[in-house]
Amino acid sequence: MKKLFTFSVLAVAALAGANAADFPVKDKPITIVVPFAAGGPTDRVARDLAEAMRKPLGANVVVENVAGAGGTIGANKVAKAPQDGHTVLLHHIGMATSPALYRKMPYNTTDDFEYLGMVNDVPMTLIGRPTLPANNYKELAVWIEQNKGKINLGNAGLGAASHLCGLMFQSAIKTDMTTVPYKGTAPAMNDLMGGQIDLLCDQTTNTSAQIEGKSVKGFAVTTMKRLTTPALKGLPTLDESGLKGFEVTIWHGMYAPKGTPTEVVNKINAALKTALKDPEFIKKQQALGAVVVTDKRSDMAEHKKFVTAEIAKWGPIIQAAGVYAD
Ligand code: ASP
Repeated sequence: MKKLFTFSVLAVAALAGANAADFPVKDKPITIVVPFAAGGPTDRVARDLAEAMRKPLGANVVVENVAGAGGTIGANKVAKAPQDGHTVLLHHIGMATSPALYRKMPYNTTDDFEYLGMVNDVPMTLIGRPTLPANNYKELAVWIEQNKGKINLGNAGLGAASHLCGLMFQSAIKTDMTTVPYKGTAPAMNDLMGGQIDLLCDQTTNTSAQIEGKSVKGFAVTTMKRLTTPALKGLPTLDESGLKGFEVTIWHGMYAPKGTPTEVVNKINAALKTALKDPEFIKKQQALGAVVVTDKRSDMAEHKKFVTAEIAKWGPIIQAAGVYAD
C-alpha cells in the first residue's frame, strides 16, 4: 500500500512536468513570452525584467515575442505550455480586458494561470505623427474636429492597451476614427513616425524617448496628475484638457501555466520580488515613466485579486462600448 502511494506521488510529480528542487533545470533558459511585437512597450519592460531576474533565478532568462490578436495568442501559448516554470508570460491590462472583448477566448484568464505577481504601473500618452499641424492638445482638438472621418488611429489589436485607450478617447470626444491594428505598438510607432497613421495612444515605456527626440508629437498623458519624468513633464493631462475624469493606467503582471508546482511558482515569485527591488531596474523603469509596484502588490494572491477586480471593472465599460471580436 505504502509503495503504491509513493508511486502515485512520483507519477503526479512527473505529470506536473517538474521537480521543484531541480528548478531551474541546469542550462535550460527561462522564457518570458511577450504577447506583442519586439521593440514595443511590453517588450521593453520584459527585457529589463529578464536582465534583473537572471541572477535571482540563477538561469538565463530570454524574451520570446508571440504577437497577435491583442495579446491573446501569446497568452494562450503560455496557458498551454509545460508546467515546469520555464515558460512564463508577461502581460498587461489586456489580460483583464480581453475576456469582455472576445466572444470566444482560447483560455480562461482566471483558471488557466498561476499568478506570479504584479510588476509595474505605466501611464499612457496620446501622440501624433510629426507632420500633424497641431502642436498642443487644444490645436489637436480643433484639427480632429476639422478632419472628422479622415483620421487614422493605430493600435496593437483588440484587447491591447492602445486599443482600450483609443476606445476611451474616441468615446470621450464623441468622434469615430479609423483604427489600424498592428501586432504591437512598435510597428504602429514606426508607421506613426513615417506619417502613415495620424494618432496613437501608447504606454510611456514606448513613447518617452520618441516624444523627447521629437520624432512624434506628444499631446497629453492619461493620468489624473501630470508626470514628473523629464521627457514627459511638459504634457497636460487629458482630464485638465477638458476630458474630465479621463484616466487609464496600464499594469503588467507575470503568469505561469496553471498546475506549475507551488515550489516552482514560489521560486519565480521570490526572484521577481528581488528584481523589483533592483535599483538598476527601478531606475530604468522610472526613466520611462513606469512605477514599479510595492512589495505587497507583487504578492501572488494580491495579483490574482487585482486582476479579478480589473475584469469586473472593465467588463461593463467594454460591453457598453459594444466592441467585440470573434
Ligand atoms: N502595449 C502595447 C499595447 O497594448 C502593445 C505592445 O506592447 O506592443 O498597445
